Amino acid sequence: MSKKFRVFATCDIGEAIEMLRKRGYEVEVYPQPQAPPKSLIIEKVKSGIDGLITTLRDPIDAEIFEAGKDRLKVVAQIAVGFDNINRADANRYKIPFTHTADVLTEATAEFAFFMMGTMARRMWTAEHLTRDNLWGFWHPYLPFLGDEVTGKTVAVIGTGRIGLAFIKKCVGFDMNVLCYDPAYENHAFVKTVEEINALRHSHGLVREKAWIKYVTFEQSLQEADFVSVHVPLLREGESKTPTYHLFNERTLQLMKKTAYLINTSRGPVVDEAALARALRENWIAGAALDVYEKEPLPKDSPLRDPAIEDRCRLMPHFASAARITRLSTDPDKGMAGRCAQGLIDVLEGNYGGDIVKMPYVVNKEAFVG
Ligand code: NAD
Repeated sequence: MSKKFRVFATCDIGEAIEMLRKRGYEVEVYPQPQAPPKSLIIEKVKSGIDGLITTLRDPIDAEIFEAGKDRLKVVAQIAVGFDNINRADANRYKIPFTHTADVLTEATAEFAFFMMGTMARRMWTAEHLTRDNLWGFWHPYLPFLGDEVTGKTVAVIGTGRIGLAFIKKCVGFDMNVLCYDPAYENHAFVKTVEEINALRHSHGLVREKAWIKYVTFEQSLQEADFVSVHVPLLREGESKTPTYHLFNERTLQLMKKTAYLINTSRGPVVDEAALARALRENWIAGAALDVYEKEPLPKDSPLRDPAIEDRCRLMPHFASAARITRLSTDPDKGMAGRCAQGLIDVLEGNYGGDIVKMPYVVNKEAFVG
């Protein structure tokens, strides 16, 4: 490598930083665990860095791209979601940005699945009973019961990478699946699941054969015992089917009173004021959330209302937070490795310098032709 590349990382991505340094890169890492102020990112970009490593906490828009005009060559995001990056601005300035799809798919899907199970079986409340010395006796239904997951019907909203991985977990629990996705229906996947369901049934593993089908959004909400959300955050104007506040008073009211909502996608997909009301007024049975409209969750959030505490599980944006998934330097296993590789591909001109051919670049449309 003839040129020494300069990189600023808004967070520490572990050993992958050392890997870049060993390649001769000069890498500065923001030393605090919290996000740097935007003014600092602008200052670093203005100083002439070649690459910027970002997380979903960093607002990346025209101001940043203007500061890096003619010098900044790539933004490498350590996340699959990129709603913090203004795609139109990146395209206008012709700056490619990369993300870390695929390597966090299974970790996120299993976390969503575990959230569903721990919520339905009321494990948090049950453990509190033990810890708070309130467990006095065994009784058939006191002090409370939970709901089984096995054999129930789950709606999967968004059947992209994580939605399909989530369905794979549900198949093992003999669940029926209602799929909804206005842009991508994977019928080959549905057929495979049908074959697996038929095999489990014909070999006597289950008494009733489970089923899977694509339906409308409304039908999925009306018929499901669990609704799990796996969509990107798309605001008005960014898609024909935006996902901002997809779950609101109207759509929450379509769900069964006994149903649970699980959200590991992005916070603004759910109108939190509406959800808090839905829980308070028992429109639905419960909700398990990993993401919020504002992160970290504000002290005065209506979701913290003690009246709904035992029916509202609150995780700290944690679904991909597994050791290998987050930090492996192998781009086929870890977000850190894939983030570094995305940066390397652009800076070192891999794939013959053709950005369209680079697998981790998101905004390829700006480089076609
Ligand atoms: P993906 O692009 O593979 O899948 C998203 C799917 O949603 C696509 O099939 C798309 O057609 C569909 N979709 C778009 N608009 C829709 C709508 N209005 N209604 C229903 N479906 C719609 O993305 P992915 O890799 O599966 O990731 C999904 C999202 O999960 C990411 O964008 C990210 O925001 C979030 N995520 C969160 C965590 C976490 O830590 N909580 C981790 C990973 C990903």
